[in-house]
Amino acid sequence: MTGARTTAGPRLPEDFRFSQTSLQVYDDCKRRFWLSYMQQTPWPSVQASPIAEHERVMRLGQAFHRLIERAEAGVPSDDVHQFVNDLEPPLQEWYRAYLQHRPADLPSGHVEVERVLDVPFTLDDSAVRLVAKYDLITAEDQSRAVIIDWKTGRKRSDPSSLQRRLQTALYLYVLVEASSRLPWGPIAPEQAEMRYWFVAAPEHPITFRYDAAQHEANRNRIAAIIRQILAGESEAGFPKVPDTDFNRKYLCGFCTYRGLCDRGERATSIDEWEDTESPDIQNTYEGIDFSLEDVDELAF
Ligand code: SF4
Repeated sequence: MTGARTTAGPRLPEDFRFSQTSLQVYDDCKRRFWLSYMQQTPWPSVQASPIAEHERVMRLGQAFHRLIERAEAGVPSDDVHQFVNDLEPPLQEWYRAYLQHRPADLPSGHVEVERVLDVPFTLDDSAVRLVAKYDLITAEDQSRAVIIDWKTGRKRSDPSSLQRRLQTALYLYVLVEASSRLPWGPIAPEQAEMRYWFVAAPEHPITFRYDAAQHEANRNRIAAIIRQILAGESEAGFPKVPDTDFNRKYLCGFCTYRGLCDRGERATSIDEWEDTESPDIQNTYEGIDFSLEDVDELAF
């Protein structure tokens, strides 16, 4: 990264790459971005309660992604079935759903599992990099590429919530920008799509088509966020979210830094989040639906 900061003080690591998680964290709460990525503050609180259930949700999501990774990579099915039988019951059900309802219309020329793509992103006098880690990309030569994201939450997400998520914008943007150096590329935005697949509703994935106008809009949206981040000279440039009942419950209540921010001690329960019908709340904490990218990022 060049030109990220011209004054002394905390700054992003030189090799920092902007991912959907870090961009979404900034979009949700600027202080959380400050604490997490600029100060790299350890987590003082649990993310959600009860702890055991939270850990179980995380573990199941992780196991499902690894299971699908093996299946998509062509590991012999006998080995996969043995792997499933050794795991907790929901995984067997989820895996059967995957076998029955893996989308039948996916391209088959190229299948990429857990592929990480990164691309340069230039704005003003700064050069940064964007990175995306994909559960699955399937593609045909210079004609079509489909991103699949496996979701293990208890409910199918609200489509408008997913539409707003930075994951949708970043994944499509990076895929098109990186396509000229991929085996099936290059592709135009109109040849890319993103599909969310749910263990809770395996017959009803949500698909987002793409086009040049969306590609430009996504570039502008990502640029605006990164520009704000790079302009932050000190902690004061990364304020807390407003102290409202809603934010306390659905942002701070799931945030590991609420103790540092004096935003309460009790974690919001996973049930409270999953039972809500509000797309805004779902949008805020889709992130609790585990992805492997989170593990990599949070490991620093
Ligand atoms: S506790 Fe609330 S204000 Fe503090 S970093 Fe987390 S979300 Fe932001």
